[in-house]
Amino acid sequence: MASYDYDLFVIGAGSGGVRASRVAAAHGAKVAVAEEYRVGGTCVIRGCVPKKLLIYGAHFAEDLADARRFGWNVPDCDFDWKVLIKNVLDEVDRINGAYTDTLNNNGVEIIQERATITGPHGIRLASGREVTAKTILVAVGATPSVPKCPGHEHGITSNEAFHLESIPKRILIAGAGYIANEFAGIFHQFGAHVTLINRTDVILRGYDEQIRDRLLQISMMKGIEFRFHADFQGIEKLKDGSLKVSMSGHEPIVVDCVMFATGRDPNTADLGLETAGVELDAKGAIVVDDDNRSTCASIYAVGDVTNRIQLTPIAIREGQAFADTMFGNKPTRVDYENVPSAVFSHPPIAGVGLTEGQAKAKFGSAKVYTSDFRPMKNVLAGRNERSLYKMVCDSETDKILGLHMIGPDVPEILQAAAIAVKAGLTKAAFDQTVALHPTMAEELVLLR
Ligand code: FAD
Repeated sequence: MASYDYDLFVIGAGSGGVRASRVAAAHGAKVAVAEEYRVGGTCVIRGCVPKKLLIYGAHFAEDLADARRFGWNVPDCDFDWKVLIKNVLDEVDRINGAYTDTLNNNGVEIIQERATITGPHGIRLASGREVTAKTILVAVGATPSVPKCPGHEHGITSNEAFHLESIPKRILIAGAGYIANEFAGIFHQFGAHVTLINRTDVILRGYDEQIRDRLLQISMMKGIEFRFHADFQGIEKLKDGSLKVSMSGHEPIVVDCVMFATGRDPNTADLGLETAGVELDAKGAIVVDDDNRSTCASIYAVGDVTNRIQLTPIAIREGQAFADTMFGNKPTRVDYENVPSAVFSHPPIAGVGLTEGQAKAKFGSAKVYTSDFRPMKNVLAGRNERSLYKMVCDSETDKILGLHMIGPDVPEILQAAAIAVKAGLTKAAFDQTVALHPTMAEELVLLR
C-alpha cells in the first residue's frame, strides 16, 4: 500500500476549505491546509463580512436623516471613512484569528504558502517543498475578473475597495451583479457620485424582474446614475490623477475611481490541474460529480472553484458533505434546491426559489400574489420608497415555488420564510398564520 504524508491535503483556507479540513480532522484524518493569503478566505477577509459591515455603516446616512422626522435633533454629521475601515479591518483580523485557532485546535496543519498540484497525489509548495496526500481537495475559490481593455490597471476590484485611503468623490462601477449594486449603495451613502455602467440593460440577472426594476427605480431616485448598453473601451489617467473612462454608446466620463465588478473567475490558472487530468469547464471551473469528485479519482473540489452556486453557505455545505462522506462514513450530498440569497443594496433584495418568469417558463403558468406597500417607518420619515413582496405559486396546487422581496430588512425576513418554501408549504399555510402587527413581515401573510 502506498503511504502518503497526509490523508487529506486541502488547497485554500476559505469557507469550503476550512470546513472540510476541520471536519475531516475531527473524523480522525491527518490533514494539512495550504493558504496563500489569509485564513478565512474571500468571505471573511474581503467578501461577505467586511462588506456587510460597510453596509451597516452606510445605512447610518439614511438613519440619521430619518431620525430628524422622529424628533431627534441631529446636527449635520461628518463621516470618517478611516475610522470605519480601521474598525472593519480589526474585526476581519479577529475572525481570521478565530478561524486559525479552530484549525489548530482540531489538529489541522496550516501551511501559509501557495500550493500547486504535481499529480494525482502530489503537491508542491511555494517554498519548493513537495508533499503527498491520499486525497487532495481543491478549495481555491474565485477571483475578480477584469476586462483586458487599455488602462484596466488603473481600476480596482472589490479586493481593493476595502483598502481605499478615502471615499472617491466620483466612482464608476462596471457590472450589474450583486457586488456592483451593493458597492453602488455603499459608496453612494458615503457621499460619492456613483455611475454604474453595464453591457446590457439588465441588472441582477436571475432575480425577479419586478423586484430588480424596483431597485433600479429606487437607486435612480436616490441619485445613482446608470448607463446601459455601455461596453468598456478603456481608461485614461489624466494629469490631475482622475480617470477618463470611454465606453460604447455614451460620452466618456471622468471619475476618481473605477471599480470592476464584472464577475468572478474560478482560481484554476497555473494550479497544475492538468498534471492530474482534472477537467475544467469553459469558464475554467473544476468539473465535479455529485460527490465533489473531479475527473481525477483522488482530487475533489468544493466552493466557488466549481462554479455551482458561488455563496459562502454553499461552499461550507460542500466542504462538510465532502468531509463527512470521505472521512466520517456518513455519505452526504448538498441539496441545491431553494437556496435563498440576498443583495445587500439600499434597500436590500432577497429571494428563494423560482422567479415569476422562471416558473412560467417551467410550468406554462403560475399564480402570483403580491404586496406593494410603503413601510410605516418610511411614511413617517417622508421616504418615498415602496417595498414589494411577491409569492410565486403553482397554479394548480398553490404550493409556493418562490418568494421574492425588496424592502428594509428583507434578508432577515426571508431567511425564516425560506424554511416554509423549502418545506413545500402552500399559500394557504401563510394565510392561516395570524399577522404579527405592526411589522413589515406581516405582509407575507396578507398577500393578495
Ligand atoms: P474562498 O473563500 O475564496 O477561499 C479560497 C482560498 O484559497 C482563498 O483564501 C485564497 O487565498 C486561497 N487560494 C487560492 N489559490 C491558492 C493556492 N494555489 N494555494 C493556496 N491557497 C490558495 N457570499 C455570500 O454567501 N453572501 C455574501 O453576502 C457574499 N458577499 C460577497 C461579497 C464580495 C465582495 C465577494 C467577493 C464575495 C461575496 N460572497 C458572498 C461570496 C463568498 O465570499 C464566496 O462564495 C465564498 O468565499 C467561497 O468560498 P470558497 O471556499 O469556495 O473560496
